[in-house]
Amino acid sequence: MTEHMPPHLTPREDAVTHHFQSVFGTEPEGVWAAPGRINLIGEHTDYNDGFVLPLATPQHTTVAVRPRPDGLLRLHSRQADGPTVELRVADLEPGTVTGWAKYPAAVVWALREDGHPVGGADVHVDSDVPAGAGLSSSAALECALATAYNDLNGLGLSRTELALVAQRAENEFVGVPCGVMDQMASMCCTPDAALFLDTRDLGSRSVPLGLDGLQLLVIDTRVKHDLADGAYAKLRAGCERAAQLLRLPALRDLPLSGLVEALHRLPADLRPLVRHVVTENARVEQAVALLNAGDPAALGPILTAGHASLRDDYRVSCPETDLAAATAEEAGALGARMTGGGFGGSVIALVPETAVDTVGEAVIAAFHRAGHRAPRTFTATASAGARRLG
Ligand code: ADP
Ligand code: MG
Repeated sequence: MTEHMPPHLTPREDAVTHHFQSVFGTEPEGVWAAPGRINLIGEHTDYNDGFVLPLATPQHTTVAVRPRPDGLLRLHSRQADGPTVELRVADLEPGTVTGWAKYPAAVVWALREDGHPVGGADVHVDSDVPAGAGLSSSAALECALATAYNDLNGLGLSRTELALVAQRAENEFVGVPCGVMDQMASMCCTPDAALFLDTRDLGSRSVPLGLDGLQLLVIDTRVKHDLADGAYAKLRAGCERAAQLLRLPALRDLPLSGLVEALHRLPADLRPLVRHVVTENARVEQAVALLNAGDPAALGPILTAGHASLRDDYRVSCPETDLAAATAEEAGALGARMTGGGFGGSVIALVPETAVDTVGEAVIAAFHRAGHRAPRTFTATASAGARRLG
């Protein structure tokens, strides 16, 4: 730690403050952080009112913020090329902002739309959450800024309310029809635990991970296939149509015991979607029970079954994520699956501590042989949700 640094700031937070000063010429009023998320199990269930089990990444996005009295929103990111983006809060409307600045502008817009008295600010963003890796750098950015605005304006919103603001921002202003998992994870996760979230009523519970001799290895394939956006909307519409045909409020209302009978009543193209969602919800509940029983090794087969379901039924995996998951298992992982929406992104593998290097190296070698770009790997500890740093 260098001498001039306030004791509560780490070198990285101190760097954010310095960058803010060099961009805007003044001191920020504070620094806030929010993590990305790794979804342990429960994929494509959040827009079906179902269950998810994410944890917060050790990587986070920081925002240094100073309110402005003149209604201007000035945005700068260390990860974005180009000059500071300057917007007027009063003029923010969906469709008016392009590029990365959409995400922070969306949060201010959503707060304004919800009737909160929010003004302008100077905002500097820095992050080590890899963008586009299926670890939700977008929610990390939204939740960091939502938390900053909540504190600076004394809005008194709860973590759940802030997650809903961030989700509305991404849905209506950015134009991504995501469910609520990413924002709830970034706001509500706690260290050393996963968040068991019921996306219907947003009730949540911390489930201690206690991995005990095991590690969660994250393999970022560094690919993101283009069809992601259109495919997501189509899958979502397919699930809604299936629920309608089954006369259910959402697919969450179909229990595993009723699955076979329900499949007979659906057109062939919707059956695999329904099978994935119903079995995936059951896998989340099983995973929670196993963690509560102190048997994390038994999560391995659940992760593997989850991957097979996403690959064969939901069809959102891709050659790179399939290769990473299969290779990790061959090299000693107890189970592995793609995490996040799919069509690229990251794979998680549950690996005995002693096999982490072997598994990582095996995946890198397999990618090399297949002619894919080298993946990035890291082990993840479950971290804290959004918070003020200084
Ligand atoms: P994911 O959320 O899985 O990382 P998304 O496509 O949803 O992928 O969001 C990534 C986008 O979010 C980036 O392309 C960029 O526009 C924005 N973003 C995320 N983090 C930052 C950052 N630190 N600085 C600027 N923009 C960011
Ligand atoms: Mg995202």
